[in-house]
Amino acid sequence: MTSAGHVIALCGGVGGAKLAFGLTRLLDPEGLSLIVNTGDDFEHLGLTICPDLDTVTYTLAGLADRERGWGLAGETWNFMAQLRKLGGEHWFNLGDKDLALHVERTQRLAAGQSLSQVTAGVTAALGLRHAIVPMSDQPVRTIVDTIDGPLPFQHYFVREQCRPVARGISFAGAEQSVPSPAFTAALGRQDVAAVIICPSNPYLSIDPILAIPGVADALARLDAPVVAVSPIIGGRALKGPAAKLLAELGGLSGVTAVAAHYAGLVDGLVIDESDACEADRLRETGIAALVAPSVMTSDDDRIRLARDTLAFATGLTRRELRRA
Ligand code: GDP
Ligand code: CA
Repeated sequence: MTSAGHVIALCGGVGGAKLAFGLTRLLDPEGLSLIVNTGDDFEHLGLTICPDLDTVTYTLAGLADRERGWGLAGETWNFMAQLRKLGGEHWFNLGDKDLALHVERTQRLAAGQSLSQVTAGVTAALGLRHAIVPMSDQPVRTIVDTIDGPLPFQHYFVREQCRPVARGISFAGAEQSVPSPAFTAALGRQDVAAVIICPSNPYLSIDPILAIPGVADALARLDAPVVAVSPIIGGRALKGPAAKLLAELGGLSGVTAVAAHYAGLVDGLVIDESDACEADRLRETGIAALVAPSVMTSDDDRIRLARDTLAFATGLTRRELRRA
């Protein structure tokens, strides 16, 4: 399918990558700007690691490990085992094959390439036709303020397993950052047909993108509908701390919490069949709702949800309120 206009998708890691996979099967490379969160990126063992960019890359390339939910299929762990023996920092797992990407990226960055250039280079080498666009080429680093003190994102997410209660989230470096060149170009297009917010963690994967100065305003100015796919299904996250954070920081649960979080930004929300009873309440708040099977297990599930979401979004007209 070639859409009548251009689609901008905002995406985090595992949840976002599944819908992104579906979108790439329906839209030509010129028809899609896939903007990926880099707030999770960090420097570790001398390497620059970009977990969401890598998850999207591996998922689109068909290389991701579906059972484990992250990293590469057929991975081996000799490096980690040896690192542990040497007494090295081993709380963040790096597979042997995966390591190559981090080493290569770190080298290319040190040689002066931007993160966008590095990402374009490695995705092309892996045979991807669709561009994967980092949200920014400047470092933006998510920090979770917890009752135990501020934690850099990966310390919160991986080392502490999201256990500490969150009080707030900030994005260090966001104020000084600008959208990457391809993101800027996408936001400036006159033919944007829809903005899709993938079923990613609203606080940890989408908010960092929105925190880049000018992005939220540019999205609000676009004369195109903005639609999110809920990462919350039946009141729960399929993975990770989305439901926990929505409760701790927003005081709400379920798809209502997602809708409240994106209030003023989205025109529509795609919710799962198990949340169908919430659709009317969403509509009362002025958000259009599409009830669709939203658990993506197979490639067909991903493509079907992408198709449903695109049809829903392009069928919406932007609310007058948001045009003003
Ligand atoms: P991360 O960066 O790897 O944590 O991934 P994301 O932020 O992109 O996605 C995490 C969210 O994806 C979680 O809140 C999950 O509930 C959601 N998720 C995972 N798989 C699915 C799915 O098949 N359907 C939907 N709707 N959400 C999903
Ligand atoms: Ca992530």
